[in-house]
Amino acid sequence: MNVVLVGPPGAGKGTQAAALEEKTKLKHIASGELFRQHMRDETELGKLARTYVDRGELVPDDIVITMILERIFQPDCEHGVILDGFPRTKEQAAALERALEEHQQKIDAVIFLNAPRDVLLKRIVGRQTCRNCQTPYNIYYSPPREEGVCDLCGGDLYTRSDDNMETARHRLEVYLQQTAPLIEHYRALGLLHEVDGLGDIHEVTARLVRELGINGELPHQPRT
Ligand code: AMP
Repeated sequence: MNVVLVGPPGAGKGTQAAALEEKTKLKHIASGELFRQHMRDETELGKLARTYVDRGELVPDDIVITMILERIFQPDCEHGVILDGFPRTKEQAAALERALEEHQQKIDAVIFLNAPRDVLLKRIVGRQTCRNCQTPYNIYYSPPREEGVCDLCGGDLYTRSDDNMETARHRLEVYLQQTAPLIEHYRALGLLHEVDGLGDIHEVTARLVRELGINGELPHQPRT
């Protein structure tokens, strides 16, 4: 089973993809997180990606497509993937569909997660992540018990370089122009499930699980 999560920045794609990964055998693949890993490791790809990520611009299609297509056919993705943040353009969507088809696979469902603009902005600028275990927090909605410290592992919390108000506003614009058109594309293919991203994290996960019809059970068939 392959699931795509689309939605604006701050909709909760990363949080919900992680929750879904825990309930299934699907592998959570986040394009933004792959770029951040390269940026932390200061690889050539990381240096290149930083020039786009820090401005809230999309990394060019050919780079993202190569990175993701290399990742999703690895053995640890054999049961399927939850794609978080990819595809973000029509070109990326077409490349994904072609590659899956070549591997006798398909997208099984697309979840469109959304929330009102003021909530999205507050979620983005309040977001903090554990440097060690990547657990997400939000200083407004789900703060850690101790400021700047991860509840789970005691690691330092950091704010992403693109999670400031100016870049967040720009990322929302980029989303509307370049990614939102994908929603109609997937609706026309009959794959779209709209999920309200507003409310408690567990509530949203329950909506998602209901929409996907997985009842929290493992999709046990390895994909062919
Ligand atoms: P995210 O963590 O999904 O919010 O992504 C952070 C940043 O990584 C984005 O603002 C882009 O600069 C870059 N990025 C992530 N995914 C993609 C993608 N599919 N296409 C282009 N750029 C991306």
